[in-house]
Amino acid sequence: MEGIDIRKITLADTGGAVEIGERVWWVGQHLPDDLFQCHSYLIEHGDQSVLIDPGGYLTFENVRRKVEEIIPFSNIRYFVCHHQDPDITASLKLIDDIPDLRGDAVVVTHWRAKELIKHYGIKMPFWEVEEHGWELDLGGRILRFVFTPYLHFPGAFCTYDPLGRIMFSSDIFGGMTSDWSLVARDESYFEDIRPFHEHYMPSREILLHGLLKLEEFPIKLIAPQHGSLIHGDLIDFVIKRLKQLDCGIFALARDKTDIRRLSLLNKTLKDITNTIIMYRDFRDTANALLEILRRTLPVVSIEFHTSTAEGGPIYLAPETRYRSVNEKPPEALRDILGIDRNEWYLKSRVSCIKSPLPAKPAQLRGNTNELCLVIPLFSNVSGKAQAMAVLRLAHDLELTEEIDQMLEQMANTFGVAVERETFYHMLDLERCKFYEQSIRDPLTGLYSRFYMEESLKRVMHAHDRNEKYSITMAMFDLDYFKQINDTHGHGVGDEVIRKVAAVIIGATRASDIPIRYGGEEFAVFLIGNSVEECVSMAEKIREKISRLVCDGLPGGYRLTISAGVAKRRQTEPLADFLKRADKALYQAKTEGRDRVLYLD
Ligand code: GH3
Ligand code: MG
Ligand code: MG
Repeated sequence: MEGIDIRKITLADTGGAVEIGERVWWVGQHLPDDLFQCHSYLIEHGDQSVLIDPGGYLTFENVRRKVEEIIPFSNIRYFVCHHQDPDITASLKLIDDIPDLRGDAVVVTHWRAKELIKHYGIKMPFWEVEEHGWELDLGGRILRFVFTPYLHFPGAFCTYDPLGRIMFSSDIFGGMTSDWSLVARDESYFEDIRPFHEHYMPSREILLHGLLKLEEFPIKLIAPQHGSLIHGDLIDFVIKRLKQLDCGIFALARDKTDIRRLSLLNKTLKDITNTIIMYRDFRDTANALLEILRRTLPVVSIEFHTSTAEGGPIYLAPETRYRSVNEKPPEALRDILGIDRNEWYLKSRVSCIKSPLPAKPAQLRGNTNELCLVIPLFSNVSGKAQAMAVLRLAHDLELTEEIDQMLEQMANTFGVAVERETFYHMLDLERCKFYEQSIRDPLTGLYSRFYMEESLKRVMHAHDRNEKYSITMAMFDLDYFKQINDTHGHGVGDEVIRKVAAVIIGATRASDIPIRYGGEEFAVFLIGNSVEECVSMAEKIREKISRLVCDGLPGGYRLTISAGVAKRRQTEPLADFLKRADKALYQAKTEGRDRVLYLD
């Protein structure tokens, strides 16, 4: 073989037998317009010669002619049939009738293929590979048989010729080619191998099983039944790529079985599934899926609508970075979805949609003539879609079977992504709820002392750096409140506290920090205000409270409050600041209550 550079073989050479290795010839026939190009090979070994995959009715005449260019046909003792397909074996019927066929000629095959081939009714006996230890000794040249079950037949096998290091690989490494050459030109040949294997081999696992067995041999040349010969430089590349290949793509087919389209569909479906594994962030998932969609559909953008378990709407759209919550989708879209304008549909789940949601993806056109494709993602128990993806389209399209399949697969992936996003959103809401609870007093709605400490930390930092962020506070305490409780009951006491809190809230601005400091004690912090302004705010509150009318208190009862005002000194710790306000309050109490007192 050293002397033969098979890469130099041209189509013109294939009119006769082509030597491809040491005493090995390609004796097949190039059939124009034949997608598969079935090959036969001759191993010349005197009167023990071997014809591998002798061929079918269409090619045998030529195969025989090419064999006889090299040796008399009667020199062939072994007819190896890697499986029973007619393109490989139909010629056995012709061979059987050749007058100079030697008397001890045999069909070399696996018992499983024999059980089918015997139906040709040929006289030639069978020589079963598994009965002979998967080896054929030609006398000085040994052929090794490699069992590659289910590729593509249960009893399929390959033949290895150690002398020329040639693997006669049967269907494995076969290619479908419209631009045939006997020898694969470069790595691009893999694109001919791909669809052939994707549809012919049942699964990736089975193909991998066979490839691993073939890899045990130091192969220099692959001589498959179909497509082109693969020489040393390309072998590793082709094996590596084949190992990653998805097979069994006919399982994807519904009506049509166009192999190349199925191959493309399979790739798309795989890419879709991979996005959910690869990306954690919803936005990344959505963007990746949008890119995949754009390969085949005129999609402009994609958005999602769903509702939380509590019925709150979630609207995820690219312009809001798929993170917007409780927002309404644009008017046009609401028209398209048939949503009642006044009754925002997701407020009480998707069931508010007037027209029943299509079970399958459907194109809808809104009042603004905008075209959308609506894909239901998952439904609630009553079968109503609880989430959907809406694809805006540049122009309308025919919803073919492939698009349908793609959208269905995409719906699964989107469904998982949206569900996950909804879950994160719920967690976010929960977290907000707990935080809100920790910073608010439930009786009055005023901020808690916990919040006071948290928010003042930041404000005090600012004040420490710059005097203009002054902090003043008024500490309030209702006068003789114990008496109200004792005389009129706790319920009345509570009501008074609520009313007082409402007065405080009414008298403060958004930048102020009103706190329920203790039972009937309150504090208000002002940022950037003067002592005078703080005193005046406290006075206003005191004055309003004195005019409060509370249920449960006798008519004419005058509720009073005392307040101590203090101004924070730069770098003063919060505790000291509070203590000074408290001191002022105490003095207000001792000086007769119902007053505001400022201590410097
Ligand atoms: P002073 O004018 O000296 O402040 O007299 P006071 O009676 O208001 O003072 P004291 O601090 O002795 O009484 C406060 C009372 O407020 C005691 C407590 O029972 C009551 N109190 C504290 N928190 C609540 C509350 O949430 N609801 C009700 N109804 N009463 C509360
Ligand atoms: Mg075949
Ligand atoms: Mg009090």
